[in-house]
Amino acid sequence: MTTGQQLRLYNSLGRRMMDFTPSADVVGIYSCGPTVYHFAHLGNMRPYVFADTLRRALRWKGIPARQVVNITDVGHAVADSDTGEDKIELAAAREERTVEEIAAFYTQTYLDDVTALNVMPADVYPRATEYVPQMIEFAARLEELGYTYVLPSGLYFDTSKSPGYGTLALLDVEGQREGARVEQVEGRRNKSDFALWRAEEPGVRRVMRWNSPWGWGAPGWHLECSVMSMALLGPHFDIHTGGVDHRQLHHVNEIAQSEAYLGDGRPWVPYWLHCEFLLLNNAKIAKSSGPVPRLADLVESGYHPMAFRLFLLGGHYRSQLDLTTNAVDAAQATLRRLTGRVEALRPLPAVETLEQALALLPRDQGAVADKAAAAYLEEIDAAISADLATPRILATLQESLRDPDISTEGLRVVVAAADALLGLGLASLDAREVDRRRSAADLHPAEVETIERLIAERTQARKERNWGRADEIRAELEELGVQVTDTQAGPTWELR
Ligand SMILES: [Zn+2]
Repeated sequence: MTTGQQLRLYNSLGRRMMDFTPSADVVGIYSCGPTVYHFAHLGNMRPYVFADTLRRALRWKGIPARQVVNITDVGHAVADSDTGEDKIELAAAREERTVEEIAAFYTQTYLDDVTALNVMPADVYPRATEYVPQMIEFAARLEELGYTYVLPSGLYFDTSKSPGYGTLALLDVEGQREGARVEQVEGRRNKSDFALWRAEEPGVRRVMRWNSPWGWGAPGWHLECSVMSMALLGPHFDIHTGGVDHRQLHHVNEIAQSEAYLGDGRPWVPYWLHCEFLLLNNAKIAKSSGPVPRLADLVESGYHPMAFRLFLLGGHYRSQLDLTTNAVDAAQATLRRLTGRVEALRPLPAVETLEQALALLPRDQGAVADKAAAAYLEEIDAAISADLATPRILATLQESLRDPDISTEGLRVVVAAADALLGLGLASLDAREVDRRRSAADLHPAEVETIERLIAERTQARKERNWGRADEIRAELEELGVQVTDTQAGPTWELR
């Protein structure tokens, strides 16, 4: 049963906001997953936190969902090309490990990262290497239907035979033959044509190789997502997600081959959702721009993984977000304040859905007694229904925590409800765990400045015998994890 406001989502297909109407009892979600050849950096994490928010939104509405996240352990060539070396094979050579070791190691680090970020596990994590026979069958069917041609470098999909090619990317009729690529492939009919099967070059023996009607080789990168999603979610399913970088090429090609394969005249997947890029100090994260921090780097610097999650949720998923030290510091400070405040409210009730939250509101003879709490729940529902507006939910949560008119019982429900969608783990986060930085030397200069300004204000308030204000400031400092001690020489401070 669906509750609350109509869920509206921004569909990349058509670039417009749409009511979300499930087509089945269980909503199928396919989220393009990691290529497991290196550590995932912080920018790589955004699509998974975004897809997690989508899942939480559906759960909130009482809509059952099943999510598949693929693990690309073969087929993804360097620079997303058709003829380059396989990323996994290259990493194996670089690290002097086997391809299996590389894939297993980086799959585990990916899973560790999303777990640390409180991303709900997918229902299935299929690995591309497990589906190669099905991929060969899929490509053979496309060949049978006349969508392909063979070149020495492999089997190619002829995009000129795909009537709506490039609709997702808004490629125009002229542009659709150009596609987004620059790679030269001898004999390719249209620039946008892509490899379904990448044949071994004469004299080169790939490490990961399968025999196929088009010779020994490996599948093209786009093929796995069509094959595994259909195998695990059925030929049509409701939602496909990914980073916005997939909107121009990878997803365009997934659609072309899938609709050719199905041939039923229906759109393969009706809703396509993409999250924007994470910028690093205002610059696009490109592979060439030097090392991009990983979650482990942030944690090592004393940030809690939930501070990064909160930073991500503080921006709308369709807006670019700029990762700077100041921004993460601010998120960490917000998380610390939230946790400090919520600790006093524990235990929080278990809430996953709007219906549960409404049922838990304090009542008086059947009527909701806490109007303020009811209004916050309504606002939280309105926010998530409006294309997953997490910044609004965060703002509502903070507002409710400052509201003198809400009952403690009602506030508990509101906090639990907000966190059912935000997934910050507020029911159990340890405020001391949130800030493991013990030494003031680790603080950012801006943080030290804030602390010292507050201490000066407190000293002034005490001079003026304004004890109320002095206590307020002390509480504020405590929320920042700062312990003030008054000595004869004046106040000193340390991190708790
Ligand atoms: Zn994909």
